Amino acid sequence: MQTGRLIPLAKSLVAVPVTVLGLSLMLAVSPSPAAAVDTLTAPTTTAPAASLSIPTPTYTSTPQTPAAAAALKPVSAQPSGSTAPPAASNAAPASGSSTAAPAGATPPAPPKELIMPNCPGVNLRSGPDVKNEILIEIDLSDTVPVLEEKGDWYKVEYKGVTGWVAGWVVTKCSASLAGKLIVIDPGHGGVDSGAVGRTGLKEKEVNLDIAQRLGKLLREQGARVVLTRETDVFIPLYDRPALANRLHADLFLSVHADSTSKSDINGTSTYYYRSPEPSRQGIFDRSITLAKDVQKSLISGLSITDRGVKKSPGIGFAVLRESLMPSILVETAFLSNSSDEAKLKSPDFRQSTAVFIARGLTDYFKSLASPVRF
Ligand SMILES: [Zn+2]
Repeated sequence: MQTGRLIPLAKSLVAVPVTVLGLSLMLAVSPSPAAAVDTLTAPTTTAPAASLSIPTPTYTSTPQTPAAAAALKPVSAQPSGSTAPPAASNAAPASGSSTAAPAGATPPAPPKELIMPNCPGVNLRSGPDVKNEILIEIDLSDTVPVLEEKGDWYKVEYKGVTGWVAGWVVTKCSASLAGKLIVIDPGHGGVDSGAVGRTGLKEKEVNLDIAQRLGKLLREQGARVVLTRETDVFIPLYDRPALANRLHADLFLSVHADSTSKSDINGTSTYYYRSPEPSRQGIFDRSITLAKDVQKSLISGLSITDRGVKKSPGIGFAVLRESLMPSILVETAFLSNSSDEAKLKSPDFRQSTAVFIARGLTDYFKSLASPVRF
């Protein structure tokens, strides 16, 4: 299976086998203790009550090593010992205020959603105060309806458990790259060279080098990064977004170099995809924000022509059209232009390109920092 070889190791994470309520889990943890932001002032509460349903992480692909497992996110979760959907089988998060207003008894869900990031310290607690026990730690970036608000706390249901999340923690984590799962797709590879410059520079090599540099920068900032290819191999087009979908990545970013028959055309463009499906409007909104932030950062940092943010042409680039998360495709420069080709050949330019893409991603996540949206 080709995709089995595509998953690099997340160097910042290690897999730790643990047993919780009889379930064997592989937890991904950072070797250096990360600050648990909402536990800074929290009392020393103990483990969740024994009555909780602990979801069992499952993975759709088989990691080859424990470290590879750490790069993956759970993609589905079922309450243990039950085949019912999480909402119906809500096994009752411990007693206390969180059970006072079960989801079914509240008025129709208000049109407010909480963006819950997967970040150390984002906990679901039994009540709207850090003194309340931690029912479950958020381990998947998700958007969920807000059931109730109290001060800066939001009551939500997550994986069948109803509890409270601190708004300031969500804000802090949303603005950070820490814990975000980012899939970087170096375009082309193997028999598919992509564009080839006049001096013979191959797009597949440039794309891979920039992607690897970007991956390193993002990992240094705490992100979890998976490349669709780590080497010069051919990866079918649809396998690329499929990998990001399987991993439930926070975003997908494809790296390419441009080419055209007109050799005087040069510059950088960033593409997004707009789906006609209303249900994907939210993804589109975030994709265009992402595209604007990355393009703006690239133009501010690179000495290169600004060709702007563009809608994916025709029916859309497959890698963007098939991605079920915010996604963009960066055309770094033109291999068909001799000046741009010289830039793409330069390690300094490649590094700068990676640096300013990374800054654009940081700007994007900061723009999501408001914990709720309407
Ligand atoms: Zn390309």
